[in-house]
Amino acid sequence: MVQTRKISEDEKYMKEAFRQAKKAYALGEVPIGCVIVHDGKIIGRGYNRRNTDKSTLSHAEMIAIRRASKVIGDWRLEECTLYVTLEPCQMCAGAIVQARIPKVVMACMNPKAGCAGSVLNILDMPAFNHQVELVRGIMEEECAQMLKDFFKELRIRNKLEKETRKSSLL
Ligand SMILES: [Zn+2]
Repeated sequence: MVQTRKISEDEKYMKEAFRQAKKAYALGEVPIGCVIVHDGKIIGRGYNRRNTDKSTLSHAEMIAIRRASKVIGDWRLEECTLYVTLEPCQMCAGAIVQARIPKVVMACMNPKAGCAGSVLNILDMPAFNHQVELVRGIMEEECAQMLKDFFKELRIRNKLEKETRKSSLL
């Protein structure tokens, strides 16, 4: 019974992260979203804005961490859970460890770049002073499908642009 309740709670917050990812999608950004929860309340939200902000630092998790720290009034996010739609990269996984976030829930894995178990597992390095509890696969299908749709559209758009350029050269 406890397990059932826990799963639905993870899904509830992952849905919020999914909503953030949709905002990135609407901007033409790779759809990745993140929320940070403290005491049953969302205290930080973020979505990928790398191209919009022209900044490497504008990953969903970095934005959510910055906002959560502002709310808590501390760089330590020791009683928080971070929900993210895609496995974090090396920068975000590093920031999660630095912020001492105890638990991360993610939807899908990122085999080529993820650093929470794919390429590396920065969240669980025995040599660091902080390890993160990990939950994988919450709303995995929905989040993976959204990424697939995004990249499919992007390929079509790029192809169309190429054709338009070609025809304007004729
Ligand atoms: Zn990242």
